Amino acid sequence: MPADNAEMSAHAALTESFDCIVVGGGHAGCEAAITAARLGLNTALFTLNLDRIAWQPCNPAVGGPAKSQLVHEVDALGGVIGRLADATAIQKRILNASRGPAVWALRAQTDKRLYSRQMLQLLQHTPNLALREAMVTGLEVTGEANQQRITGVRTYFGSVYAADTVILTTGTFLGGRIWVGHQSMPAGRAGEQAAEGLTEALRHLGFQTDRLKTGTPARVDRRSIALDQLEEQPSDAADRFFSFDPAAWVSGEQMSCHITRTTAATHQLIRDNIEKTAIYGGVIDSKGPRYCPSIEDKIVRFADKDSHQIFLEPEGRDTPEIYVQGFSTGLPEQIQLPLLRTLPGLEHCVMLRPAYAVDYDYLPATQLKPSLETKRVHGLFSAGQLNGTTGYEEAAAQGLVAGVNAARMLGDQEPIYFPREGSYIGTMIDDLVSKDLREPYRVLTSRSEYRLILRGDNADRRLTPLGRDLGLIDDRRWELFEQKLQAMDREKQRLETVRLKVSDPIAPTVEQETGAAIKGSITLADLLRRPGVHADDLIRHGLADADLPLPVREGAEIDIKYSGYLQRQQQQIDQVKRQSQRKLPSDLNYESIGTLSREAREKLSAIQPNTLGQASRIPGVSQADITALLMWLELRQRQALAATPEAR
Ligand code: FAD
Repeated sequence: MPADNAEMSAHAALTESFDCIVVGGGHAGCEAAITAARLGLNTALFTLNLDRIAWQPCNPAVGGPAKSQLVHEVDALGGVIGRLADATAIQKRILNASRGPAVWALRAQTDKRLYSRQMLQLLQHTPNLALREAMVTGLEVTGEANQQRITGVRTYFGSVYAADTVILTTGTFLGGRIWVGHQSMPAGRAGEQAAEGLTEALRHLGFQTDRLKTGTPARVDRRSIALDQLEEQPSDAADRFFSFDPAAWVSGEQMSCHITRTTAATHQLIRDNIEKTAIYGGVIDSKGPRYCPSIEDKIVRFADKDSHQIFLEPEGRDTPEIYVQGFSTGLPEQIQLPLLRTLPGLEHCVMLRPAYAVDYDYLPATQLKPSLETKRVHGLFSAGQLNGTTGYEEAAAQGLVAGVNAARMLGDQEPIYFPREGSYIGTMIDDLVSKDLREPYRVLTSRSEYRLILRGDNADRRLTPLGRDLGLIDDRRWELFEQKLQAMDREKQRLETVRLKVSDPIAPTVEQETGAAIKGSITLADLLRRPGVHADDLIRHGLADADLPLPVREGAEIDIKYSGYLQRQQQQIDQVKRQSQRKLPSDLNYESIGTLSREAREKLSAIQPNTLGQASRIPGVSQADITALLMWLELRQRQALAATPEAR
């Protein structure tokens, strides 16, 4: 126990005892608590406000590129985020539909209040799980420095709760301070108090903490927007779900989003007032999420763009609140309404809540093991935004991992480490614990060098057997999973053996549509391998069973269609390993290499590494960037060879 806490704890009565205490009722905390309880731990979830369980303080949307893969993975392991997003979705879209399946992504706008209510009900009905509303301000530990073990937590009002494992999932609340312009107040989120004491308790135990920031846009009243003048974006994927469990497939009434754009007046107003933001005015300097920039960041960083797309997204079925996506700002409240009114359709809008930024303490995750247990204190785990990530999906995935490993620790079992080649969960945790990330981490498909393998559609095939071994997949789910695999195998077998003959009545239409002749006959699998041919086309031509469930026919199609790409990806990975000693020219203009991520271009230009191996160790440069760099170098070499007369 930390010395300065000793006196207080001497007076504190031991209130209750648990196997596992989860601190925080956000997306990480709920997933951690449900997982630990389901694995048999007598678990308690402590949170500041039981009416704000799994709250979505930013965009009430789940999924999107790479994030949807994470949600599918959590579901494949028996977690809950996917089921809840399915049950509360009000608008669903497939993103990147025109690109390959490695980057296809499901995104669901959810009903924020319904999501929170349903999660609370789920927690309340989970056996072995107790809910407590309290602010945890201290950590009880025993043992000498570097061999310490967690024994419980202490709350603001002095109660002590014993626990063998503690999972911290405190989000943006530690030392949280919200900002509107240069005005600020202590708060974890708007309208919610900041958490006191825990940062100091962590520092006292020898942990380092640092600060990050994030922000959220204003909410406006739907009734004050001229929606009829704006482009409508209807739901286009009502038949798609995050969960692999058909019992979770709920299709509620869908709503539309709308699209507007920034104008010259928007940009001018921002430029005129930019110093009034806390960041550009130099009042705070914590790093914000690179991939969710504020509107002023966009205008500064992309000065050549004269307009940015803004999405107007409903927050639920029974609220008029509209989330102005892409328009988060640190400008003062007085400027926010005139700024919103520069957007077409919003000329007379009513602002219900102003945009704000929040900066908060986080725990750089290099202080964690890949199990998410801290290196310093045995039995103390950390998950979610506290580890420097941003996003509900990232938080949920870490919560599940921490819950699993807390249970394994108490069961004297080896921790489960998720390898990066097996999941986005593994990719994210590997990045978090091994790279010195000093800005909010968001999962991206470009962070994975294995993204053709780590798709959403096959997350169950990659992870459900592990979920079963862990004890998180019950008999019903396991049976469904086995039935799906059998159905896919049957379908693949059929596609590889059934032939379409040139004499079949449908053959001329197929030839015409695919632009390629059928010589004699062709297997349906080879037909499917032709560009632009999909399982739906086979159904249309009576060559496949329309009653085959979508995940079965889509999974079979991807396996057949992309088998060549998958093999090639493996070869590239092997090549990257061999090439790590390769020298990089000192005059390389990384900015000109469009296949590198923006972050990699910035970091490589600044550091100018000597070798590919050195480049790969720069934080922010992913293996995917290294592959892209390698391919670019190969191309350049081939072009140089072709240009020399001797080479011709
Ligand atoms: P949270 O969901 O924040 O939950 C933390 C929980 O811990 C809360 O229930 C709180 O009551 C509880 N708690 C905290 N301290 C204590 C304590 N001492 N004792 C007891 N309980 C405690 N994500 C994006 O992906 N993109 C964005 O643009 C984005 N913008 C955001 C803007 C704002 C203003 C905020 C606040 C968040 C934003 N997020 C964004 C982040 C997203 O909300 C989080 O990533 C996600 O909610 C993290 O989940 P979590 O479980 O780690 O923490």
